Amino acid sequence: MTGRELAVIGGGQLARMMQPPAIALGLHLRLLAEGPDVSAAQVIPDHVVGDHTVLADLRTAVADAPVVTFDHEHVPSEHLEALAAEGHACRPGPHALLFAQDKALMRERMHEIGVPGPAAAVVADPAALDAFAATVGGYPVVVKTTRGGYDGKGVWFVHSAAEAAEAFASGRVLLAEERVDFRRELSAQVARNPSGQTEVYPVVESRQKDGICKEVIAPAPDLDPALAAQAQEIAVLVATELDVTGMLAVELFETADGRVLVNELAMRPHNTGHWSIDGAVTSQFENHLRAVLDLPLGPSTPLAPWTVMVNVLGGAVNDLDAALVDVLAAVPQAKAHLYGKAVKPGRKVGHVTVTGTQLDATLDAARRAVALLEGAPHE
Ligand code: ADP
Repeated sequence: MTGRELAVIGGGQLARMMQPPAIALGLHLRLLAEGPDVSAAQVIPDHVVGDHTVLADLRTAVADAPVVTFDHEHVPSEHLEALAAEGHACRPGPHALLFAQDKALMRERMHEIGVPGPAAAVVADPAALDAFAATVGGYPVVVKTTRGGYDGKGVWFVHSAAEAAEAFASGRVLLAEERVDFRRELSAQVARNPSGQTEVYPVVESRQKDGICKEVIAPAPDLDPALAAQAQEIAVLVATELDVTGMLAVELFETADGRVLVNELAMRPHNTGHWSIDGAVTSQFENHLRAVLDLPLGPSTPLAPWTVMVNVLGGAVNDLDAALVDVLAAVPQAKAHLYGKAVKPGRKVGHVTVTGTQLDATLDAARRAVALLEGAPHE
């Protein structure tokens, strides 16, 4: 073994995209993968197959790696505490990850540190939901599972307590939130290392389709500089107050009346930061590695006036490799990233990034490339 060793739990595309900067930095990644062929296992030779909810599997994967990081936030806290007690530095640590795992705890903590967010309350039954709705001017309100939701799964917009029947039937702890009338969704990312150095990224606009992030524009077009600065300050404050190490993404709503409210936190590289691979001096993946290993961080400075990232969602095209040839021919400046995942409807299977000086042309080029990969007509 040469160089620094880092264990990564979870074999999705986020772990996969850590490998190129790890190669460049001479790091050795060791992966706990859900299966032998998952996205990251295809590119990280030193992987073990196991279950991140089983402590013995985690122990095998982390072996003698001094530092452990993550592709997702689903490792149970008690296992992280056990690994920490055995001498592994978990970055981010369980005390921070808790607030990315549980939306109710996150809301409470944001309130304590003075970070703005929608009014919210845990609701035990339909009567409690009615009572909450009355405090925010009535229905509609948003109901969410506090744990385990992703890509809009576990989020319901309800116009009455009766409409929340499915949510209550799930048997999970539910958080009710004021429905925010937002202009658009923004994301503010920051890298933070254990020494306390932070590097904040330009605030980006994230556009969702059916609850899934579809397009990201860096920087967010026409964003009031004061609001951008506030969003960045929130990201740095949250990272510092919660002692986050690695990348933190703060998903935000920009309200119609010109405020930013925190929606949720992700403590890992995030879909809204993929643009930085091709569009920034230091990508979120490189800064994540630098941060968790307590190395000095790199600048987040953009390389072009505009960077557009469009996700490739599973569609009519099954043979992505063949479609990629068409993309390379038709949009040669597009940077296509395929995740080595089987195509399933709506599944994130890759993304395309284009940089440019004119936003419309940049967006159009990225969309054309993605239309070829999805087999969808170009909008
Ligand atoms: P997930 O964990 O599945 O990403 P989110 O909490 O981010 O769930 O919610 C998914 C989407 O639902 C958000 O991107 C946003 O579009 C919408 N949403 C969530 N909370 C609210 C809210 N309080 N008001 C209005 N829209 C919301």
